[in-house]
Amino acid sequence: MAIYDPNSLKAEEFINDEEILETLKYAEANKNNVELIDQILEKARPKKGEKGYVCSGLTHREASVLLACEIPEEVEEMYKIAEEIKMAYYGNRIVIFAPLYLSNYCINGCVYCPYHLKNKHIARKKLTQDEVRAEVIALQDMGHKRLAIEAGEDPKNNPIEYILECIKTIYSVHHKNGDIRRVNVNIAATTVENYRKLKEAGIGTYILFQETYHKKSYETLHPTGPKHDYAYHTEAMDRAMEGGIDDVGLGVLFGLEMYKYEFAGLLMHAEHLEAVHGVGPHTISVPRVKHADDIDPDAFDNGIDDDTFAKITACIRLAVPYTGMIISTRENQEVRGKLLRLGISQISGGSRTSVGGYAEEERPHDTEQFDVSDQRTLDEVVNWLMENDHVPSFCTACYREGRTGDRFMALCKTGQILNCCHPNALMTLAEYLEDYASPETKKRGYEMIARELERIPREKTREIAKQHIEDIRNSNRRDFRF
Ligand code: SAM
Repeated sequence: MAIYDPNSLKAEEFINDEEILETLKYAEANKNNVELIDQILEKARPKKGEKGYVCSGLTHREASVLLACEIPEEVEEMYKIAEEIKMAYYGNRIVIFAPLYLSNYCINGCVYCPYHLKNKHIARKKLTQDEVRAEVIALQDMGHKRLAIEAGEDPKNNPIEYILECIKTIYSVHHKNGDIRRVNVNIAATTVENYRKLKEAGIGTYILFQETYHKKSYETLHPTGPKHDYAYHTEAMDRAMEGGIDDVGLGVLFGLEMYKYEFAGLLMHAEHLEAVHGVGPHTISVPRVKHADDIDPDAFDNGIDDDTFAKITACIRLAVPYTGMIISTRENQEVRGKLLRLGISQISGGSRTSVGGYAEEERPHDTEQFDVSDQRTLDEVVNWLMENDHVPSFCTACYREGRTGDRFMALCKTGQILNCCHPNALMTLAEYLEDYASPETKKRGYEMIARELERIPREKTREIAKQHIEDIRNSNRRDFRF
C-alpha cells in the first residue's frame, strides 16, 4: 500500500487515498469542535506584519475541518476571513480572460465531456491559422489581452507543433490597439520535452484540471484514451515544472466525485508542489460539471449546490491565500457575484466555448464544450464588476517582467501588490475604456480610476501611473507596466 509523502513524485504517494480518508474522518469527528475550529480560523486570519499582511494558510486537514463544519456562525466567519484575505492580497482587482478553443478533436473517452471520441454527432473542428487570426482579432476587438487556449487531446490532429504554431499566431496579431499579451494553455498532460517547448513559446500558466483525485472514479470517468492513466495525469504538473514552467494551474471538476474528497486532494496537490518545487500552484480553478451535447450533469450524483460551492471557494481561499482563483462562465451572474467576494481573483468574460465561436455573429452551439451560463458581453461584465466595486484588470505584467513562480509569490507576501498590480490594473483598464468600452462603461470606469489611483501608497508610483493614464487617453501609446 502507498504511504503518504508530499515530497514523493509518485501520484499515489502525494495524493494518498488513505490520508484523504483519514482526513475526512478527522474532519467529520471535529466538525462541531468549536474550540478547534476557532483556532483554525485564527490561524487563517491575515495578520499585519512589517511589510503588509501575512497569512499562514492551512493544511489540508485543518481546511477539511472547516469544510465539514456546518455551524452557521462559524461558516459566516469563514466567509468574512476569505474576504479579508482576498482584500489583503488581491485587493478589489479582478483579472479578466477569455478561453479560445482551438480544436475539439479528441481521442479520449471522458464520460462528462462532449468531445469524447464516441460522440459522433458533435461537429469536429480544428482552426486553421487564418481562423486563429480571425478569432484573435474578434477577441482583441472585445478588449481581451489574456487568453486560455483549449484543445482536445489528439496527437494526429492537435500535435504539440499545432499548439505551438497557434501560440505564435496569437502573439503575432496586433489589430488596431489590440494585442494578446498572455496565453495560458489548457491542454492534456504531456511530456517534459513538450512542456519545455510551451515554456519557450512564452506561455503564461499551464492549466490542467485533475477532474477527480479519486483514482478509481478517475479510471471509470476516463475509460479509454491516454487520459485514462491516473498517474501520468496527476504527475503532469511535476513534469511541467521540470520543463521550466513555474506557473501551473490546478482544478477539480466539481460534481464528479464527493466534494470533500476532492477538496482534500486538491490541497494535498498544492502542498506537494510547494514541498517539491518550492512554489505552490499559481491558480486554482473551480469548474462545476455542466450540461453539454451528449452530457447530462444530473447523471453525476455528486453535484453540489450553490451554498456548498461558496463554502468550498472560501475554504480554498483560507487554505492557500497566495493562489489566484478562477471562475468561468460555466457559472451564472449571481453565483459569480457571490464568489468574487469570497476569494476569486480571475474571471472569464464574453466567452464562447465553441471552436471558431468568436468570429461568428451569433453564438454557435454545434461545437460547444459546455453551455455558457453567463452570456453577457465583456462590456457588460466589466461594467457590472465596477458597479460592484471590483476593478477589472487586463494586466499581464508579471510574467512579462519575469515575476513568475516564487517571485510572484514574493510580491504577494511583501505587500507590494498595491504599488505594482494596482497601477497596472488601472492602466490596463484605461486602455480598455479608451479602445473598447461603451460610453456608460467608460464614464463609470474613469470615475473608478480617479478614486482608485488615490489608493496607490507610493507617491512616485501614483504620479507615474496618472501620467501613463493621461498618455493612454491622449495618444495611441499602450502597454505601460510596472
Ligand atoms: N483536453 C484537455 C484535458 O483533457 O485536460 C483540456 C481541455 S478541456 C477542453 C478543459 C476542461 O473542461 C476539462 O479539463 C474539464 O474539466 C472541463 N469540462 C469538460 N466537460 C465539461 C462539462 N460537461 N462541464 C463543465 N466542464 C467540463
